Amino acid sequence: MLLLVLLLPVCWAVEVKRPRGVSLTNHHFYEESKPFTCLDGSATIPFDQVNDDYCDCKDGSDEPGTAACPNGSFHCTNTGYKPLYIPSRWVNDGVCDCCDGTDEYNSGIICENTCKEKGRKERETLQQMAEVTREGFRLKKILIEDWKKAREEKQKKLIELQTSKKSLEDQVEMLRLVKEEAEKPEKEAKDQHQKLWEEQQAASKAQREQELAASAFQELDDDMDGAVTVAELQTHSELDTDGDGVLSEGEAQVLPTDVPVPSDPHLMKPKEEQPLVASPTAEEEEEEEETDEEEEDEEEEDSQVQGEQSKETPPPLVPPQPASPTEEDKMPPYDEQTQAFIDAAQEARDKFEEAERSLKDVDESIRNLEQEISFDFGPNGEFAYLYSQCYELTTNEYIYRLCPFKLVSQKPKLGGSPTNLGTWGSWAGPEHDKFSTMKYEQGTGCWQGPNRSTTVRLLCGKETVVTSTTEPSRCEYLMELTTPAACPEPPPELPIEGDHDEL
Ligand code: CA
Ligand code: CA
Repeated sequence: MLLLVLLLPVCWAVEVKRPRGVSLTNHHFYEESKPFTCLDGSATIPFDQVNDDYCDCKDGSDEPGTAACPNGSFHCTNTGYKPLYIPSRWVNDGVCDCCDGTDEYNSGIICENTCKEKGRKERETLQQMAEVTREGFRLKKILIEDWKKAREEKQKKLIELQTSKKSLEDQVEMLRLVKEEAEKPEKEAKDQHQKLWEEQQAASKAQREQELAASAFQELDDDMDGAVTVAELQTHSELDTDGDGVLSEGEAQVLPTDVPVPSDPHLMKPKEEQPLVASPTAEEEEEEEETDEEEEDEEEEDSQVQGEQSKETPPPLVPPQPASPTEEDKMPPYDEQTQAFIDAAQEARDKFEEAERSLKDVDESIRNLEQEISFDFGPNGEFAYLYSQCYELTTNEYIYRLCPFKLVSQKPKLGGSPTNLGTWGSWAGPEHDKFSTMKYEQGTGCWQGPNRSTTVRLLCGKETVVTSTTEPSRCEYLMELTTPAACPEPPPELPIEGDHDEL
């Protein structure tokens, strides 16, 4: 009890001795019993010039509790909240600046002391933030563990894939040989079929032509002895050139008769010395020569019947048009054996191509895995979980989409194609905090400007959310993403006030 009585005046004395607006840390410079030396050392003045509302020190340190020095500052203790320096001109200006109200000691304004309430709210906010950090950090540790496991699995998978790639390559090679082997008989059989078909076509063409020639020949070969004589020609009055109704021997000999011969699809013009039409085949030609002598004997006889026969309407000498080519030119289906070769080769091709596709897929998986495993996902891989995700933020006008480590885009809310705001560039935080910022570069070019780019700031949060997107300067976007991976290790939990039961 005695101790308390003794202590109280001491405390009171300390309070009184400290001039207004001086912080606890500075109060030893202000001793009432000594002259005051300005804090910048520019002058020494009697102590009664401290807070006399006249500025004596260049740094304003003699007037911490008045508004006399324009560059001076006033210290509010703000017990229960944070101490604060305010510019001296705010002292007694009628506005409460310190939560403890000490800046308005002589202005007629009464400031309520709100420090306790402010302190309580701040503690709440800090507690909430600490809670977020704690929870975030807890999640971050899980993320790190998850990636460790996932990475190991991916590495295992990669080894598996590399092994199966080797055997797939062997398989592809083997199937290529099988395919090539199967294609040999296929090609042979197909070529053979083609050749046969072409030969057959040529033969039937020759036959058609021969038939045409034969029928034309038969038209003229009235006595069907295998040779056409002048007399026989003379029975065809339609061949009469001078229009006298009779085909004279002379006319018959120079007759430009066009009769097809089998060896040549073009029409043959008879030569002067040999006005007679050749027989349809070579053998018959010989026959014709043999019968040449007989011809002349028959001439007279034939000319006698000419008049009667000329009344008949002879068939045209023009060969009929060949049959429509569509049916004729179509290759007949392959025979069973050839088709079997083709089927076998096709099966071999299919198998080979399938194996080749599998190999390509495996190759791609390997590339993707290698890329993912070697990616820089932060000091402990805590950002790896973002790799195959995308996060969106919808504003009044746009839908922003962030696919971490890949790209950022912006799409009009009411439809339209997306604009690339940058593809993954690098971690871009300051040296001591490299993983606090991501940079996405080389987006769609701005009209008469640079390529769009985006900086993504990573903030500690329990959830992964894009919280804001802005365009601080033209075509340079700024995004904020909260993620547990950005949470720092929280300080050890402080014991809550009143928990001191030990005393
Ligand atoms: Ca003064
Ligand atoms: Ca004030």
